[in-house]
Amino acid sequence: MTTLKISDRIRLATKQSPDHRTVVEVGPHKVGGEDVIVIAGPCSVESRGQLMETARAVKAAGCQMLRGGAFKPRTLPYSFQGLGEEGLEILAEARKETGLPIVTEVLAPGDVELVEGYADVLQIGARNMQNYPLLRRVGAAEKPVLLKRGMAATIEEWLGCAEYILNEGNTGVILCERGIRCFSRVTRNTLDVSAVPVIHQSSHLPVVIDPSHGAGVRSLVAPMALAGVAAGADGVMVEVHPRPEEALSDGAQSLRPPELEELMKQIRKVAHAVGRGVQHGAR
Ligand code: PEP
Ligand code: MN
Repeated sequence: MTTLKISDRIRLATKQSPDHRTVVEVGPHKVGGEDVIVIAGPCSVESRGQLMETARAVKAAGCQMLRGGAFKPRTLPYSFQGLGEEGLEILAEARKETGLPIVTEVLAPGDVELVEGYADVLQIGARNMQNYPLLRRVGAAEKPVLLKRGMAATIEEWLGCAEYILNEGNTGVILCERGIRCFSRVTRNTLDVSAVPVIHQSSHLPVVIDPSHGAGVRSLVAPMALAGVAAGADGVMVEVHPRPEEALSDGAQSLRPPELEELMKQIRKVAHAVGRGVQHGAR
C-alpha cells in the first residue's frame, strides 16, 4: 500500500513500511485484520429491557460487538446523562448472554478504573479527543481504546491524540471517524470518508467508520456505512434502537433491528467487492 506522510512529529502512530498494520484483538475478533467487524447498539443504555432486546437483535444480525453508553457526553446538562455503573452492569449482563464484547465510553480519568472493569473496549468520544489527562489514563489501561475523531480535528491532531495513548504503552488503539463539523445543515456532521485511506496510508492503526453520528439521519446511515467499507474501513459502528422514537438520545439516527439486518447483508456484499469478508458473529 502507498505511504502518505502526514507529519514527522507523529512517531508511534506512523506507518513504518507499506505493509505495517496493527491488528487489535478484542475477544475472538481482530480489528484491522483481513475481515471487517460491525459494532452495533444503542446510543445510550436506557434500561435493562431496552439493552437486552437490542443486544439480541445485534447478535441475530451477525454483528461482532455491542456498543452502548453508560456515561454520556450530552450537549446540555438537562439531557439524559446515562445510567452510570448500573448501565455498565446491564452491558456486562448482555455480554454474558450474547457473547458480544462491549464497547462503551469513558468520560473522565477518574472513571477509567470502573469502566475498565466492565468494558472490552474503552471509547473516547469526539468531545474528549483532546482530553490529554484522559488519553494518558487510558494509555495506561489494559483494554483497547476506540478513539473518535474530534468534530473539528485535523487528521494530524487526531493521530497526535493516538500518540498520547501509544506513548503510555497501550498498543490497542482503534481510530473512529465519526464526521466533522462543516457548513451542511442537512446532515448532523460531514462524514470524512477520505479519512479512511488517509489513515491507512499514513498510520498502521485500524480505522472504523461511524455513519450514525456522521450522518445523523437514519436514511443516510446505510449508504454512508457502505461508502466507508468500500473505502477500506476495518469496521463500522452503528446505533440501533428497538423503538427509535422513544430513544433518550440519538433516536433520529438509530436504525431499527430489521434495518440493521438489511445493512449487514449489504456490508457483506461491499466487503466482498473489495476483497474482504465480515468476521464471524458471536456464537
Ligand atoms: C456516541 O458514540 O454515542 C457519541 C457520543 O459519539 P461522539 O463522541 O462521536 O459524538
Ligand atoms: Mn450517540
